[in-house]
Amino acid sequence: MTSAEEPMAVAVTRLRTAGMRVTAPRMALLMAVSDSAEHLDADTLRDRAQQITGHLSLQATYNVLRALTDAGLVRCTQIPGHPTRYETERHDNHHHFVCRRCGAICDVECAVGAAPCMEPRLPEEYDIQEAAVTFWGFCPDCRAAATGS
Ligand SMILES: [Zn+2]
Ligand SMILES: [Zn+2]
Repeated sequence: MTSAEEPMAVAVTRLRTAGMRVTAPRMALLMAVSDSAEHLDADTLRDRAQQITGHLSLQATYNVLRALTDAGLVRCTQIPGHPTRYETERHDNHHHFVCRRCGAICDVECAVGAAPCMEPRLPEEYDIQEAAVTFWGFCPDCRAAATGS
């Protein structure tokens, strides 16, 4: 078995478990997302997926990413001023820190451990299911660059 076969088999299983038909673009993009611990945008994922499956249009990339997100395999995060980022959905209700300067994103563990991890002031008729928190600031590199230290 070559090293490329195993992640492929994992991707096929995950697609089938989610009730999705297995197609080459879906497999390649799911592999590209799961392959990385980062939060990648559609452009970067398309580049990586194309190394597995050959040409993929940006539109097809967006369509597949949306389908994977709808199926609960991929989590997408919209950060104002940045392209949508994608990561593996782990259902862990984590939040994000975003660097104001370079746009780097890192995961912040859920403050409470269960969704929603905040008690908003809303009438009890509302059914609140989750809270998405974005922490803004400077990453260590940008902080160092700003202070010149
Ligand atoms: Zn930064
Ligand atoms: Zn994340």
